[in-house]
Amino acid sequence: MKAIITQSEPSKRVRSVVYVNSVLNVIANDFAVKNGIYISLFKSKTWLKVCRLVNKMHVASLREIFPDAGSITFSHTAGCQCGCSPGYVIKEERPNCFGRYFWVDIEVSAEEEADFKNKLFSSTLAKEFADEKAAHALKLARPKDTSLSETSLSH
Ligand SMILES: [Zn+2]
Repeated sequence: MKAIITQSEPSKRVRSVVYVNSVLNVIANDFAVKNGIYISLFKSKTWLKVCRLVNKMHVASLREIFPDAGSITFSHTAGCQCGCSPGYVIKEERPNCFGRYFWVDIEVSAEEEADFKNKLFSSTLAKEFADEKAAHALKLARPKDTSLSETSLSH
């Protein structure tokens, strides 16, 4: 994997924000769509696992182009509080300097891409999610007499 900065702009914020363009996101998205993760009504631990894996790979790649970065962490609200611009937030080691906005392409070789696809699609992750979904359905189906569970059933 290789990270390449395609664009950069000054920012008035202390921390830098990196927007990543990566095929790993596309593959993870594909996995989520095929397994119905996006339409599930619960917070999926399996999906969290997939996201953590993607983030870990991206951060490792970003480290190579931002060697001075104190920490690089994914944030859904990196670019905007409404969540429209997720990205990676860089905490610089040097204090009192303004950050920048970066747009980065993550280049992934064909072999790395195949490896990652295998990691998602040929692993137990899909089964893990199916088990999670079944456990959740079971929980919902269990009759309860509180009005709270009635509400969650109607969703
Ligand atoms: Zn927004």
